[in-house]
Amino acid sequence: MIKFLDLEKINAQYEQELKQAAARVIDSGWYLLGNELESFEKNYAEFCGAKHCLGVANGLDALRLIFKAYIEMGVMQKGDEVIVPSNTYIASVLAISDNDLVPVFVEPNIDTYNLDSTLIEEAITPKTKAILSVHLYGQISIDQKMLDICKKHNLKLVEDAAQSHGAKWNGLISGAIGDAAGHSFYPGKNLGALGDAGAVTTNDTELAQVIDALRNYGSHVKYENKYQGLNSRLDEIQAAFLNIKLKYIKEDIEARRQVAQFYLSQINNEHIILPKVLEVEQHVWHLFVIRTKNREKLQQYLTENGVQTLIHYPIPPHKQNAYNEYKNLSLPIAEKIHNEVLSIPISGVMTKDEVEKVIQVLKISST
Ligand SMILES: *Cc1c(COP(=O)(O)O)cnc(C)c1O
Repeated sequence: MIKFLDLEKINAQYEQELKQAAARVIDSGWYLLGNELESFEKNYAEFCGAKHCLGVANGLDALRLIFKAYIEMGVMQKGDEVIVPSNTYIASVLAISDNDLVPVFVEPNIDTYNLDSTLIEEAITPKTKAILSVHLYGQISIDQKMLDICKKHNLKLVEDAAQSHGAKWNGLISGAIGDAAGHSFYPGKNLGALGDAGAVTTNDTELAQVIDALRNYGSHVKYENKYQGLNSRLDEIQAAFLNIKLKYIKEDIEARRQVAQFYLSQINNEHIILPKVLEVEQHVWHLFVIRTKNREKLQQYLTENGVQTLIHYPIPPHKQNAYNEYKNLSLPIAEKIHNEVLSIPISGVMTKDEVEKVIQVLKISST
């Protein structure tokens, strides 16, 4: 069976270094907000080309903290609206609603699966304060039109960069294109910790200072609390692991691009729609997502032929029980995508034989 994602094999590549780092942290007696985190924050800010990086507990918290900080700063207030794509992982929407802000769903482009910037302006009201643009599957979702709209309407542009480490657009790297970005280092992400971890990047020094306090009970100075904060920190041991894996991320992205290039050039099946790439460097292939009218049949056929697949995602946020208030919204493009997408294996550790097998199986599929 070709695994959807072989995490064991991915981390085995760095086994010696990871074990040494774990031992170093254990022996140091210092487990939170120390040198390992400081070093990772510096390295990851540099990797993104952002002024500031703040490690937090996970990707959802990174996004939650950005909106919480904007509220503390008076940039937005409870009840304000945030535009978000209707096809995304639920965490994007949770980050908005958790802050008592209102998610306004805008449909994606059916080819890129990312927010359709031509539909944004009609969704703007006097309460709109931000766009949360999700670089879904690893492809940058921001274009010049979106930047112009943000400028014209004085909106903050927040990136959900959970899936797009290292993706590049117009000379800028994911995490340094908008006003602030939330990153996830969940183990299965392209840059994955060995547990939960996340970060905020931004060029906005005030925002960085507020989040620095908010992630630590709202405190800049021990036992003095300026804000009603959270406890959301990135552990030293995870920061140490991430520092190691960050060194190899560029090679990993290259390897993923090669797999994607094979898939794109060799899977030719009239029943299967392949993903659309805008520019090579704009996509880092967190997921390789195909579309078909007969998804259940195709998934079963792939399983029977030794190829494990997953669905990202089967139910759109507005159809989740958690968001009952939106269940009657009509968002046909998002619904179509959620009904038809299927993610096939992609990673930097797939062998050429495995990639070829996936291609062969898909080539002769009759669904
Ligand atoms: C993974 C993910 C998140 C949440 O990150 P966690 O670290 O799992 O909390 C948010 N948005 C998107 C698009 C994601 O893929």
